[in-house]
Amino acid sequence: MQVAVEDLDKAFQAFFNRVKAKEEAGYPRFKSGKRWHSIGFKQYGNGFKVAGRRLRISGVGRIHVRWHRPYEGQIKTCRVLRKAGRWYVSLACDVPEFVALPETGRVIGLDMGINALITDDKGEQVDNPRWYRQGQTELRLKQRKLARAQRGSNHRQKKLLSVQRQHEHIKNQRKDFFDKLVYELIQNYDVIAIEDLKIKNMVKNHRLSKSILDAGWGYFKQRLLDKAAEAGREVVLVNPAYTSKKCSNCGCEFENFNLSVRWVTCNKCGLSLDRDHNAALNILDRALKILKRAGRVREPERSGS
Ligand SMILES: [Zn+2]
Repeated sequence: MQVAVEDLDKAFQAFFNRVKAKEEAGYPRFKSGKRWHSIGFKQYGNGFKVAGRRLRISGVGRIHVRWHRPYEGQIKTCRVLRKAGRWYVSLACDVPEFVALPETGRVIGLDMGINALITDDKGEQVDNPRWYRQGQTELRLKQRKLARAQRGSNHRQKKLLSVQRQHEHIKNQRKDFFDKLVYELIQNYDVIAIEDLKIKNMVKNHRLSKSILDAGWGYFKQRLLDKAAEAGREVVLVNPAYTSKKCSNCGCEFENFNLSVRWVTCNKCGLSLDRDHNAALNILDRALKILKRAGRVREPERSGS
């Protein structure tokens, strides 16, 4: 009950913050039994306990758990959730401080672009995963079946579950994709520069058309910031304005530049580059300037291009 009250409080605080920020507020809605999906416990040993490989929850008993990994440190709180007809338990633990990774002397700038999903300052690209669209198509088919099912029928209930499962599936794939990407970045670079894109503008921005970043940008950014903090890495968010429009070599503005330009050539210095590659160079440059101004000079180790 304590956790339920805290959840309610969080919902209202978030609502008030949205009101204050003059955003679309959205009053917290009542969750009926049908919408109910989680219960929480505040203290280990008070309502829940790990007994061997099982979890004991008061009022329920000993539950068999499929552990996806052993827990670390000391368990503090617990939440039992139901998602798409399946039950999950998440344990929050107190773990010892993380140890910073050894410095690599490498820095990287990333552009979230049109040609490829991500392009770095060396011109290396990460493509939009092909399975992402497939998952979306599958979802649409399932949603259509749900829409055609008669209200209140068992059939509809089944179709609803299949839509929910598909959403879960897509979410898990997306999470997996970004987790691996972030892991690679954190392992290999001391400084990672990305554009400080605002999610709200991105929805209106057709620059990124139906890519995994549409729904995953917020997750990617947060994950990167969290993991960087753990590993002692630095993520620099730079102002995205004019990163594509400017020559990364001489700083002049390209003429006749628009969204359809895939390859940029500079009339002044003769630079000729993929547009996203050029943008990534600008992003890295901006980040290094920010670090320099903050008194944390890092000599970039750039391969020529
Ligand atoms: Zn130039």
